[in-house]
Amino acid sequence: MKKDYYRILGVSEDATQEEIKKAYRRLARQYHPDANPGDKSAEEKFKEISEAYEVLSDPEKRRQYDQLRRFGASGSFNIDEIFRREGGPHRGFPFDLGGFGWLGDLLGELFDFGRWGRPRSYGPVRGEDVYAEVEVPFETAALGGNVTVSVPKEEPCPVCGGTGAQPGSASEVCPTCHGLGTVSYVQGGFAVSRTCPTCYGRGRTISQNCERCGGTGRVSVVRKYKVELPPGIEDGGQVRLRGQGGPGAGGPPGDLILTVRVRPHRFFTRRGDDLLCEVSVPREKAERGTRVRLRTLDGRKVELKVPPGTRDGRTFRLRGLGVPGRGDLYVKVKTT
Ligand SMILES: [Zn+2]
Ligand SMILES: [Zn+2]
Repeated sequence: MKKDYYRILGVSEDATQEEIKKAYRRLARQYHPDANPGDKSAEEKFKEISEAYEVLSDPEKRRQYDQLRRFGASGSFNIDEIFRREGGPHRGFPFDLGGFGWLGDLLGELFDFGRWGRPRSYGPVRGEDVYAEVEVPFETAALGGNVTVSVPKEEPCPVCGGTGAQPGSASEVCPTCHGLGTVSYVQGGFAVSRTCPTCYGRGRTISQNCERCGGTGRVSVVRKYKVELPPGIEDGGQVRLRGQGGPGAGGPPGDLILTVRVRPHRFFTRRGDDLLCEVSVPREKAERGTRVRLRTLDGRKVELKVPPGTRDGRTFRLRGLGVPGRGDLYVKVKTT
């Protein structure tokens, strides 16, 4: 009950500001370091009193503190549960932990996580999204097609099925939580329950760790995925493979998110759905007018008519020869 400020000051929860001030003055006189030279415990006590007074004497801080107490007293609440539900350390939490240092620190102390950290949670959580990059040929990105990508990732251990226990080994009801998977305790005047730190919420303890995964329930593997890319994907574009990310702990797996890196082409470049290229034509031929044969990205042979008097840098548009169904091909004549 270290952080029960009302108890520290010895006042009731509905004490007036005047009563709080009086109680503080009385205790501060009693435990002031000047009155207790060299007495460490008096010094500690004095710090505690000052801290309690700092919060309770400030109506706004007191209101927040009371809110937190009520929240805690409304039954034992499971902090892991809250974070799991909200998917993050502070989103949706009834208090903005970052907004006021003192309460963030208090919460950190109460719930055993850093102010911005995540509580150590092993309950049913969705798996993490796994990010990977895949380098694809220019043609595949522009025209669409299949690529194969190898992604290192974690998966549930195939030997123990993710339990972490060596198959056939004995397991016992967890002595810490008696099989409940959660432990409740009172701290700072709040009843708190959290995932059991001994069995990580499984309710049973492992007598022998799985030999394959060492008791973690997960193994690292390299998985190959064949991914169909839509035509026209840009460099930096992403493809999401649902359910192919990290394994969930009792929850669904995360997604695999692939970022596409497009290899350059020696002849073509892309601008959105359009393709661009350059052809060299001797100056005299460009003057007279000529025909230039070129091969499109998908391998078709086409002929570009270069009219008489064509100057260096003139660009011709060949409709429908860009990203299939959407783009055009621009051919720039470079005279030599
Ligand atoms: Zn295993
Ligand atoms: Zn346990």
